[in-house]
Amino acid sequence: MADIIQLLPDHVANQIAAGEVVQRPASVVKELLENAIDAGASTIKLIIKDAGKTLIQVIDDGKGMSVTDARLSFERHATSKIRSADDLFQLNTKGFRGEALASIAAIAHVELKTKQEQDEIGTSIVIEGSEVVSQDIVVTPKGTSISVKNLFFNIPARRNFLKSNPVETRHIIDEFHRVALAHSSICFSCFHNGSEQFNLPISNYRQRIVNIFGTKTNEKLVPVEEDTEVLKISGFVGKPQYAKKSRGEQFFFVNNRFIKSAYLNHAISSAYEGLLKDGAHASYFLNLIVDPQTIDINIHPTKTEIKFDDEHTLYAILRASVKHSLGQFNIAPVLDFERDSNLDTPYNYEQKTEPSVAVDSGFNPFQEDKKVGSYTASNYKKEPVANWESLYVGLESKGTKSQNDFNEVHFESEPEIASIFNDPKAVEEKQSTYQLHKKYIISTIKSGMLVIDQKRAHQRVLYEDFLQHITVKEGVSQQLLFPLTIHFSSRELEIIRQLKQDLEHTGFVFNLLENEVLEISGVPVSVPESEVSIILEQLINDVENEVPDSHFSATDLLAKSMAKSLAIKTGQSLSNVEQEHLVNSLFACKEPNVSPTNRVTFITMTVDELEKKFM
Ligand code: ADP
Ligand code: MG
Repeated sequence: MADIIQLLPDHVANQIAAGEVVQRPASVVKELLENAIDAGASTIKLIIKDAGKTLIQVIDDGKGMSVTDARLSFERHATSKIRSADDLFQLNTKGFRGEALASIAAIAHVELKTKQEQDEIGTSIVIEGSEVVSQDIVVTPKGTSISVKNLFFNIPARRNFLKSNPVETRHIIDEFHRVALAHSSICFSCFHNGSEQFNLPISNYRQRIVNIFGTKTNEKLVPVEEDTEVLKISGFVGKPQYAKKSRGEQFFFVNNRFIKSAYLNHAISSAYEGLLKDGAHASYFLNLIVDPQTIDINIHPTKTEIKFDDEHTLYAILRASVKHSLGQFNIAPVLDFERDSNLDTPYNYEQKTEPSVAVDSGFNPFQEDKKVGSYTASNYKKEPVANWESLYVGLESKGTKSQNDFNEVHFESEPEIASIFNDPKAVEEKQSTYQLHKKYIISTIKSGMLVIDQKRAHQRVLYEDFLQHITVKEGVSQQLLFPLTIHFSSRELEIIRQLKQDLEHTGFVFNLLENEVLEISGVPVSVPESEVSIILEQLINDVENEVPDSHFSATDLLAKSMAKSLAIKTGQSLSNVEQEHLVNSLFACKEPNVSPTNRVTFITMTVDELEKKFM
């Protein structure tokens, strides 16, 4: 039989390997920025067109390349950064595999211009799909400029696989943030479709964070410093009360390289134990400096994972120092003057933020009563009801988070039976609806009864309403007497900019001022002024958390998000008129059965079913 094995031609091998290095435009951005840093640049400019699908260009003022190196840089495994396998354990550079440029050149149109300081003229090389199209001498400033055009031009499947521009842009901005945060002594700028997105001057770390995430970030930061033999930690963690629902602002850098580590992340969340509401994530911006010999960054092609020799020790040190910093913040005079300075028991603080839950969550008077076998009608009527009622106190005014706390409270059916008999209104004959536990609305129907979840029902009503306004583009706006101004980070503003049109269709009128300030002069009629910032924050959160694989529809997301923010919450009392209005509006909806997030809005119980229960 004839031999059938062949060596793959280089350009095919490169294309296959490219898949590992380049998943999306953001991967190219990362590799090019890192090369510029490795070249010792002090100013780096990133230029993007169409979310990097049309152009990604990085211009640096680093050391540049000689003619030969310029040509060699596109060869596979061509690197100036390591000479032997031993060097892998002493890495001080970002790159070392010599794969990035070869991979990028295999799947895009690449133009390189580079010049070393001592040279009069520089080199320009054009490569398309691994083929060198031209090589010339050029006049160009010291440093390197690489343009990557038409990414995946020769792999249509990969190109089609790319997500929408907003999603890809977000990935790019994420990479840009990571690199810029790790190098505050380098000046970075970023342009997208001709407009400047970031301009980050050389600064200290705190200023760099603030320049990226907005001035309001400054007051949220608590410094962390630790210097031990195995590990140096520096950076900031976020004050607990500013924790967010998204994981957005969590950054670990090890030896100035962004890494992901669920284990170390756990060390930090455990340092926050008792300080955060459920589902909230603290921000952190932490730099860990360790001996390069004690880590292995070679285990993942995109190099965001890392292996430490002694993870347990790192975990312990990290946790302790974050805890210590939070402790110092915790005993600050604003919060509590006389507190014992034992930093490891932050319960005082917990009670301050969650009074009702801390007091009531474990309280169930009925179990006690059952045990002693003495529950009488009077027991039902007085004490227990009063105590259960007290659970609502303070929850109503606590904004959107309250419903989570609320759901944790376990309800029994008995106490409510008692309250029906306590409340003369409840048995009034004419009343067609009744509110149960400030959570459900009960209504009679021909075949029996209907139990409606008030929050979900209202979300459905609002959702269909907003959706209609957005799509027919005629949301009614109410002019604000005094325009609101709200600070956002540029990342957040980018999201708002993408949704601008849709937001305007719902009735928002806004204007982008300088210094990352959004001025809002009109809001939809249904939106109270006091809710505006919550709605926008929720919206940004929802957009950021949107699973990139699902179909991204800004309209739908906006309607959902606003409905979520504005809907009546669990725990809110409704008058009879309000209850009836809600029931009627729900059944006027196109899809009354489910909430915008596909949860059941109501259940029915027929008289037959009831009768069976009484058998
Ligand atoms: P690696 O960074 O892993 O060495 P790359 O494919 O990214 O591999 O780059 C190959 C080589 O090209 C680098 O080792 C470096 O010598 C050179 N190079 C790449 N980008 C630049 C740049 N911006 N300035 C100077 N040299 C560069
Ligand atoms: Mg590189």
